[in-house]
Amino acid sequence: MSDSLETRLAAVRRRIDLACERAGRAPGEVALLAVSKTFPPEALRQAAGLGVRRFGESRMQEVRQKDSELADLKPEWVLIGHLQTNKAKEAARLVSEVQSLDRWPLAEALDARLRLEGRVIDVLVQVKTSPEPSKFGLEPAALPAFLERLGGLQTMRVKGLMTMAVNSPDEGAVRACFRMLRELRDRMRDEGHAGLERLSMGMSGDFEWAIQEGSTEVRIGSAIFGSRSNQGSD
Ligand SMILES: *Cc1c(COP(=O)(O)O)cnc(C)c1O
Repeated sequence: MSDSLETRLAAVRRRIDLACERAGRAPGEVALLAVSKTFPPEALRQAAGLGVRRFGESRMQEVRQKDSELADLKPEWVLIGHLQTNKAKEAARLVSEVQSLDRWPLAEALDARLRLEGRVIDVLVQVKTSPEPSKFGLEPAALPAFLERLGGLQTMRVKGLMTMAVNSPDEGAVRACFRMLRELRDRMRDEGHAGLERLSMGMSGDFEWAIQEGSTEVRIGSAIFGSRSNQGSD
């Protein structure tokens, strides 16, 4: 690989700024979450040296391993993958934010464990905006009732919504997913959920479209760390 991590990170930041400009948005309105899942601890250490503090991970086992190897860096772990309820205890101890909150039993399990830890974390609700059967996420129609219930929990600050768009080269289809999330956020805010600000949407392959549709945070892995298929088995 000829490009360095530093070059790729700078290129991604530049593309985010350009996409903001094209969308008539202020650069700096869109945060970057570096998705480090499957990449080795040395890559995260290097990224930390370039100013990255928050890392997106999909599996608690990997968070646990990296957290002990990188303890000196005190990274902030952001969980973006499907979380099994029986991993709530470990998540409550280690992660600073969960973006993949998608069902009530998980919220209850996290709440119980967070209370034991005496911690409060930020959460985003993952919403299913794509018709693909394999995608996790809450059905949009279930969102109002889910937000009501979450509002009763003291251990979680509900900051916004997260989604993954349909995996398709069709710009219209991908943007429709992002637009659905933004419209849901706007409607929920109108209905009184004032704290709902963030929209975590856009990955390496589609983040410019997500920024066009109002994303406030893009989750970028391979465009920063390199191709995940070169990582071998995990
Ligand atoms: C892996 C992953 C990403 C990043 O994907 P890239 O294509 O590597 O940028 C973003 N969001 C979620 C939920 C992921 O699982």
